[in-house]
Amino acid sequence: MLKNLIWNILYALARALPHQPRMTVLLYHSVSDSPDFFAVSPDIFDRQMRYVSERYAVVSLSRAFEHAAGKCVERDSVAVSFDDGYRDFLTEALPILERYQIPTTVFVLGDNPDRAELGTDHPLLAPEDFAKFSPLVTVGSHTLVHKKLIKMSVEDAVRELSLSRESVKERTGTVPRYLAYPKGSYNEVVMHLASEAGYDGAVSVVERGVHPGDSAYALPRVQIDSTTSFLRFQAKLTQAADWYYRLWSLARLKRK
Ligand SMILES: [Zn+2]
Repeated sequence: MLKNLIWNILYALARALPHQPRMTVLLYHSVSDSPDFFAVSPDIFDRQMRYVSERYAVVSLSRAFEHAAGKCVERDSVAVSFDDGYRDFLTEALPILERYQIPTTVFVLGDNPDRAELGTDHPLLAPEDFAKFSPLVTVGSHTLVHKKLIKMSVEDAVRELSLSRESVKERTGTVPRYLAYPKGSYNEVVMHLASEAGYDGAVSVVERGVHPGDSAYALPRVQIDSTTSFLRFQAKLTQAADWYYRLWSLARLKRK
């Protein structure tokens, strides 16, 4: 496959060339043996987490925001995040994250998300699960229903942004600092609304590393799912991700 060949070449180049210390935020959804596209099996997740804990500084998401703001990391660093708040975060992912002492942020929905918008019946965290989290876990908001904020009226978007903050506060006792846009979808208006709602920052899904100067309301994250080979996982933590993203953006522009 051409895609694999390109990744292999870019990864070989990334390993050969010098680089500034990098900051990458990983995005996971489910850690389970589910056949769903977005699920990573516990064995594979364990291998990935062992790899990052051995080769990278594992840092909190707030450190990634600091890097974007210009307080750069001194070593290649990785932050780990989860979207949607599936129950297997507690039962499968967290024991592995604890084994390697990896801090993580889990972006959760309200008590009654729109399953059609979410696109899966995969079980979600129950309200009582939040008390079982270890100090390694920070909870962020992923809105209440999981609908694209750019598709909503401003009033509805404001409501989603503020009520989901309250919902997280009710369950954890702490006001969430960060937001993850449902389906990674945002625009200038939504970024502004997130800031107005009181969030310190928001994360998206843009397949590259975090760089100084990146907006605190559109922090890029690299998605890891069932299609991510181990080599691709390794490559996504390097400059290869930035280069591939640039090539992909150029190819997309050309097609328009
Ligand atoms: Zn989501």
